[in-house]
Amino acid sequence: APTRTRPHVVLLASPGAGHLLPLAELAQRLVEHHGFAATFVTFTNRADPKLLSHVPASVATAALPAVQIDDLPADAHFGLVVLELTRRSLPSLRALLRSVAPPLAALVPDFFCSAALPVAAELGVPGYVFVPCNLTWVALMRHVLELHDGAGPGEYRDLPEPLELPGGMSLQRADLPEPYRDCNGPAYPLLVDWGRRNRGTDGFLVNTFRAMEPAAAEAFEVAAEQGSFPPVFLVGPFVRSPDSDEFPDASSSPCLEWLDRQPAGSVVYVSFGSSGALSVEQTAEVAAGLEASGHRFLWVVRMPSLDGRHFAMGTRYGNDDEDPLLAAWLPEGFAERTRDRGLAVAAWAPQVRVLSHPATAAFVTHCGWNSALESVKHGVPMVSWPMFAEQRMNALLLEGNLGVALRARAQEGGGVVTGEELAAAVKELMEGEKGRAVRARARDLQQTVERALGAAEGSSHRALEEVGAKWKAVLGRER
Ligand code: UDP
Repeated sequence: APTRTRPHVVLLASPGAGHLLPLAELAQRLVEHHGFAATFVTFTNRADPKLLSHVPASVATAALPAVQIDDLPADAHFGLVVLELTRRSLPSLRALLRSVAPPLAALVPDFFCSAALPVAAELGVPGYVFVPCNLTWVALMRHVLELHDGAGPGEYRDLPEPLELPGGMSLQRADLPEPYRDCNGPAYPLLVDWGRRNRGTDGFLVNTFRAMEPAAAEAFEVAAEQGSFPPVFLVGPFVRSPDSDEFPDASSSPCLEWLDRQPAGSVVYVSFGSSGALSVEQTAEVAAGLEASGHRFLWVVRMPSLDGRHFAMGTRYGNDDEDPLLAAWLPEGFAERTRDRGLAVAAWAPQVRVLSHPATAAFVTHCGWNSALESVKHGVPMVSWPMFAEQRMNALLLEGNLGVALRARAQEGGGVVTGEELAAAVKELMEGEKGRAVRARARDLQQTVERALGAAEGSSHRALEEVGAKWKAVLGRER
């Protein structure tokens, strides 16, 4: 059908690369493979024009006008900021939904924007929450909700330790995202509310695929049949294609020119996501570890965080102003000593292009879910180094259930990952017996991604087709 008359899906993105980019991929897939028109909606507050340039041309875009959020505390949690942005933007979202080319088929907010779901209900269209994380994360949220069903107002309970999740995942308290660790913490009530809002969805669209989390998938099927939890649809992975990875100007990126000159399967790529910052001490240990590993490396170096936090708010992209500073962040003489086999770049690399490059052999990663999926999709085995948010859960899934990663362990009590530890993990992955098995499994898992996305029988393709059919059926009933 011509795009004009197709059923229309409106997707609401929360700011930040990790959420916005996969949702844009979903929008594109709905248009190109499932017969929908799509409008990709962002908030003017915290908008990032560089990220928006990633939304494919086949998808329309719209920005909700800026709203006042100056009253929020400067250190307000990102999730809370997006919750308020969503709430305060509801009038303009409602107006936008009324104005897009009919017929409106569904609203798909990112899971930080689930406060928008009531607007979908009001307009009589399905509201489906997009989960940029995996199904294990949804299982954690569900567990928190079940623990608090029937709890009185202001009554909060700690999760059991260990927490057992489907797939044999056994999580210690330290493996949980920080706000889940203590029911007396300030963020815990927000989490429970957030979960309840999310559970109001007609269905979850999750950025994972069946072969990645088969046991969790089965557990959720049972829950949906019993009506105890909304249906989940495993429709991922949403990974942008290397050709569209143009942060900024990947075609002329020094990383790619350098990779082109390295032997096939020789380079260890090291990056900690869009917001992971290391301490000064930790940055020096990474340098020492890469030097000691003896392997070729491509390292995306960020300005060390001086306050000791792993998390520096705000995405930083290859910023020319930072390059001159790069040398100052690295140990004395490091660049000279590793000149023949290593490249350190400031702040940002075109990661999907790097992971799809034949020279890239392994990925030292903070286990952000997008990074993990990008690595899996390109068959690159990982050294897992989880830092914050749900990254420890991701790491356990990648190491234990899937066997595609080896952990680089931090010292007890939140200490650093030493240079020796990093070097040992890199060497094991690149040369060792355990490493050989991990490398083989990464290749096998890559095959399953291809199959999941395949247009005929792929599980993810079919799941999204099923969702699309449900949306179209609702429209059909109205006619
Ligand atoms: N990314 C990139 N270049 C970098 C760092 C990150 O292209 O130097 C991209 C990466 O490909 C991924 C996203 O930014 O798509 C980071 O998402 P992830 O979930 O891995 O981690 P987060 O940034 O949310 O911690």
